[in-house]
Formats: sequence, structure tokens, C-alpha cells
Amino acid sequence: MKELLPGVYRLPVPIPYPLKTVNLYLLKGNGEVALVDTALGTRAARGTLELSLAELGLCFQDVRVVLLTHHHPDHYGLAGFFEGLGARVFLHEEELSRGHRFWREPQAFEEASWRLFLDHGTPKEALEGIREVMAATRERIHPPENPIPLRDGEVLEVAGKRLRAVWTPGHADGHVAFLLEEEGVLLAGDALLERVSPNVGLWAYTRENPLKDFLRSLDRLGELPARVAHAGHFGPIPEVRARAEELKAHHQERLEALLALLEAPKSAWELSLMLFPQELDAAGRRFAFAETLAHLEYLRQEGLLGREGPPYRYFRT
Ligand SMILES: [Zn+2]
Ligand SMILES: [Zn+2]
Repeated sequence: MKELLPGVYRLPVPIPYPLKTVNLYLLKGNGEVALVDTALGTRAARGTLELSLAELGLCFQDVRVVLLTHHHPDHYGLAGFFEGLGARVFLHEEELSRGHRFWREPQAFEEASWRLFLDHGTPKEALEGIREVMAATRERIHPPENPIPLRDGEVLEVAGKRLRAVWTPGHADGHVAFLLEEEGVLLAGDALLERVSPNVGLWAYTRENPLKDFLRSLDRLGELPARVAHAGHFGPIPEVRARAEELKAHHQERLEALLALLEAPKSAWELSLMLFPQELDAAGRRFAFAETLAHLEYLRQEGLLGREGPPYRYFRT
């Protein structure tokens, strides 16, 4: 745990994913304690979180406000747990009808989710592995029952700080970064990461063009009056605009790589194996597929690709 500013702490918590750790941010002031993101419902995460809180003389019940950057398991997983202890949980309105519903009402999305994979060329055996991963993930998630909707630009006064919610869709539809206005510090969630490019995926429940959303969000982030960003994983980002530009360039390269692979029509699954040739487990393949599909749909909506099917195959126009 590290105090970044007076009353603002970074709490790294272990997660059973390749990124290994999620950073939560704790705000403490004016007799109030707020947490930005919550980690996942594993024993290791709860234990670490409990110890970090104890170092500050706090316990789980002291957290009265939870601000969620987005609905992904490593950020949202314990939100219902804190809500059950009396915390108010805030989540962007766009997440309520999509990512949050995906966890709250799995039956409503299950059929559409599997259909999306099959329609885009995923072999049945690969889909079986993906279904197992999702079933295991659900067991570690405690969705909040009554999250309070956040809107873009809304200013919250919590724990003696003023935070502006900056809607930054792309990595998740209702992704929000929180700008500590007086301090010029951005709590960036997964919209900007120091070492890796945040996953931008198209899923059964997402908006239609997540990559377009993400590129716009990067522009927006680059213009914020932030001297540093603290993200959901890894270390701080001192040059916010430069990192946003690097990520834009990365996606531009990936779009060009995809176009080059489309000498002949191919499915999103096939292309994901070519674009991500490294050895990946079922969870990694799932992300690779959704990221490839987001890039393909971006190109299709730009008029550079067409598709035939289902099962869908993309081709250059
Ligand atoms: Zn995420
Ligand atoms: Zn994350």
C-alpha cells in the first residue's frame, strides 16, 4: 500500500489472472472512506484487502462508498459484498443495462454469447473451454443489487475530495475514469495501462463499435488536465497524452495487420489465431477473439470490410 497524496492510497490486491494484481484506490477524509474498485471475490483478495485496511486502522464496514470504474470481475467482483455491509455503490449508467446485467442475469445473455462465438467460426471444443472459464468466474463475483447510476461529467464529493466522472467507453461500455480535479490526478481504471494495451472487445452485450469508442476515449483522456494517471494495473503513467497516443498507434497497426491478413475471406476466430499466435489458455483465447472482432467490426463500419454468413467470414471491399 502506498499513500499517493494526502488521503489517497493505492492498494494492490492479487487476482488469479495474467495481470496478477489489481490496484484499488482508497480515499479517506472528512470522516468518510471510499474505495475505487473492489477486486475479485477470492480468499487471497479479501485477505490482502483486509490487511491493507487494517494498516489504516480500518475494516470492511468502514467503506461507505464504492466507485466502480467498470464491470470487469477484477474491479467489480466484491461490490455486492461492500453493498451488503452498507456501502453505496456507484456505476456508470451504460454499465447498468449491459455489463452489470451480464452478471446479474446470466440467462438473458448466455445464448447470445455462445451464438456470437459460433457465428464467428469458434470451434465447439474451444467454446467448451470458454464456457468453463465463464462459469468459474461467475462464482467469484458478487454483483451489487442497487448500484447508483453515474453520468458523464458528474462531480462527486467523497472523502473530502472532488472527483469528476469521465465516461471513457471502449475497454468497457460504461468505463469511467475519475479525475481528482484539484490535484490534477486521474484514476484511470483500465482505460490507460502502463505496460499493456487494454483489451478492447466486442461481446454479445456491448455497444456496436467498441474500438471506435476506445479511440475517442483516448483522445478525451489526452486532453484532461491530469499530470499523472494511476491505473487499474501496473504503475503510474506520468505522460497521459503520450500514453494515449501510443495506444492509438498500436490499434492503427493492428487494423493494418488485419487488413493484410485478409487476402482471402476469413472468420474472426481464424484471424484471432493469426493476430495472437502465442500460446493462450481458454480465457486468453476468449479475449483474443473479442479483440479481433472489435477490430473487424471497426473496419466494416468504416466501409473497408464486408462480411458474408453466418457463419461470418470477412473480406476486403
Ligand atoms: Zn477491465
Ligand atoms: Zn482490470
